[in-house]
Amino acid sequence: MATQVEHRVERYITTDRVRHFINGEFVAGEGGETFETINPATAEPIARVASGGKAEIDRAVAAARRAFDDGPWRRMPVKERARALRRIADLIDKHTDDISALETLDTGLALAQTRKAQVPRAADNFRFFAEMATKMHDGETHPVDATYLNYTTHRPVGVAGLITPWNTPFMLETWKVAPCLAAGNTCVMKPSKWSPLSAHKLAETIQEADLPPGVFNLVQGSGAGAGAPLVEHPDVQLISFTGSTETGQEIIGRGAPTLKRFSMELGGKSPTVVFADADLDRALDAAIFGIFSLNGERCTAGSRLLLEDSIHDEFVGRLLKRVERIRVGDPHDLATEVGPLIHRDHLAKVLGYLDIARAEGATVAAGGTRPDDPALARGNYLRPTVLLNVTNDMRVAQEEIFGPVLSVLRFRDEAEALRIANGTKYGLAAYLWTGDVSRAHRFAPEIESGMIWVNSQNVRHLPTPFGGMKWSGIGREGGHYSFEFYCETKNICIAIGEGHIPRMGAHDEERVAQGARSDA
Ligand code: NAD
Repeated sequence: MATQVEHRVERYITTDRVRHFINGEFVAGEGGETFETINPATAEPIARVASGGKAEIDRAVAAARRAFDDGPWRRMPVKERARALRRIADLIDKHTDDISALETLDTGLALAQTRKAQVPRAADNFRFFAEMATKMHDGETHPVDATYLNYTTHRPVGVAGLITPWNTPFMLETWKVAPCLAAGNTCVMKPSKWSPLSAHKLAETIQEADLPPGVFNLVQGSGAGAGAPLVEHPDVQLISFTGSTETGQEIIGRGAPTLKRFSMELGGKSPTVVFADADLDRALDAAIFGIFSLNGERCTAGSRLLLEDSIHDEFVGRLLKRVERIRVGDPHDLATEVGPLIHRDHLAKVLGYLDIARAEGATVAAGGTRPDDPALARGNYLRPTVLLNVTNDMRVAQEEIFGPVLSVLRFRDEAEALRIANGTKYGLAAYLWTGDVSRAHRFAPEIESGMIWVNSQNVRHLPTPFGGMKWSGIGREGGHYSFEFYCETKNICIAIGEGHIPRMGAHDEERVAQGARSDA
């Protein structure tokens, strides 16, 4: 059943001119420059968006700095801060239908997924980190005999720059904003140019929740125009970045002169490893969902499927039948499972990988072309694609394609499976399917990735650490790990006894005292 969707952006947000949000107000920006955001399903422009640069970043950082240094946010009782964040969560719940429709309009993600999973998860992020902030352990004590007492305390760091990608943008933005603000920091967020609309909606929601001005600021624009000056700004202490590994590398370089603290959530090429002894029905469901949900534009996508030799042919047969039946179509149709890719340039990149796959000797066994339906001709659609005969040295096994493309590899035994699973530069997620509990415990810790799911799809539980190793990232966020990033841990040492204090420069006094003693 197709949902009636209004394509006028004013239906979802209060303006047709998408602007920056600085110091509690929506502003157009200095030069009045704008860019267009395009509907990936139709190639039609949806809205014009203010394009920020150094001037807007400077204003936004100054507002965030004032709000941090002089405003009430970091000083208010944590329960009050938590209440403000819960107001945002309640407003997200109230506006779920609008936010999810807007997100789908701007990104092409299937409405069934934005409405049921991504937007509710955004509200959960605010509720969870509000609760965490009230329970944060503060802190440890380290007594030294009866002489000193050390205790640790957590304090907000200051102004954070939050730089986000276009895949599941609303959820990922709240994943950063919620813990950042819960800890008492203020922030400037810079969303991707390909998905500016739900970020605007987040600013409207925060305005409606009545946060003090300057606590949350939003500057729209490109990476080079707005992202780079944010990273370089001397008044910004923290950068939480989610995006590609290449951009992450550049940001670390740019932030070095002002010694930023970084959290880096980067790319992936995650393996799904299926042993013959696994529950193959569940493994098949999870392998398909793991790569084709969210249009394959998912950092933790199981983009490499590793099959044990003895089950390879049968598993692939079942896989291909199912993949051919995945419903590709209008992302606003609640029956659609795969929508259009975010942008024409991204579709071209993904299609380019199919040429590379063929040239390298892989076989395109399902999909590989755009759908025949003329109604989809203008959108950035690609049929879900399966590549067979892939070996781990091929580029399609090594590089992040970030679309609905699954590379299938085979292995003989556990040792080879592990070698292939670990044989990329990335290390974000891994999925292991086996009915052998000893193998699960033996194999899982050896996989070089930050997150490993055993006999499970990608189930996120907010207290758990999220992040990657190798080229997939630096640091972890989630649960108390987010607070380790968004807080300064300070040690305070109190003398509670007469601890020894060396007396420098006191030699004369000592001699006089000794002389007085010998005279006596
Ligand atoms: P991207 O790296 O192109 O852009 C991400 C953000 O960085 C955008 O807002 C962009 O404008 C900004 N940017 C670009 N150049 C910049 C610069 N020089 N200085 C400051 N900011 C700059 O990534 P993308 O294409 O938007 O997103 C897809 C990538 O994100 C994929 O690689 C995916 O794996 C990764 N990702 C990772 C995670 C994770 O948690 N590990 C989650 C989602 C997406």
